[in-house]
Amino acid sequence: MSELQEEREQVGELGREMLSQELTRGTGGNVSVRTGNLIAVSPSGVPYEDVTPDTVPIVDTDGQRLEGDLKPSNETPMHTTIYRDRPDVGAIVHTHSPYASTFASLGRSIPASHYLIAYVGREIPVAGYAPPGTEELGELAAEAMGDDHDAVLLQNHGVIAVGETGEDALEVASMVEYCARIHHQALAIGEPEILPDEEVDDLRTMFTEEYGQQ
Ligand code: 13P
Ligand code: ZN
Repeated sequence: MSELQEEREQVGELGREMLSQELTRGTGGNVSVRTGNLIAVSPSGVPYEDVTPDTVPIVDTDGQRLEGDLKPSNETPMHTTIYRDRPDVGAIVHTHSPYASTFASLGRSIPASHYLIAYVGREIPVAGYAPPGTEELGELAAEAMGDDHDAVLLQNHGVIAVGETGEDALEVASMVEYCARIHHQALAIGEPEILPDEEVDDLRTMFTEEYGQQ
């Protein structure tokens, strides 16, 4: 039996969910789920409908392929850089969602004009441009994310979102798109009110410690 069967299964499911929520198009974007030093990452350029567990490569945190016949996502360096920096992260979702990518193309971060930004941090920062698939992009993304954000915009490209689990990372990616859309709409009508940092910090604590059935 090969390694990380459940994680490999989840990679395909997250990819299909990302498509069904219109957070990406075609084979754009990628996802990974890790356990310890092993990472199941979506294969490069394969339609998500075709991603079955046996097509999902396993790499280590240096990006070395340990299992699987298909080439891992070309954004593997970005995923591994973030996993090395953030031991709390168990899954990563990279999307090209349209409203968030619009702000990314403008090189503009998204401020706290909606309270759901608390899923991400005080704002959604932008990492400067580097070509897709490069180590440099990984470094810029990890630096902009730091320890205080769970997502960043990638200039002229898209979004990278993280979470403890695959569901968490996808939820963050979905919130990024929602906040981007609301901010765009608010700017189209007038001047959005921006929540103060302390309020967003309180909301973030509420989401992680109290909200829902925990
Ligand atoms: P992959 O298909 O290699 O994962 O690349 C898609 C992408 O979004 C690159 O940024
Ligand atoms: Zn991409």
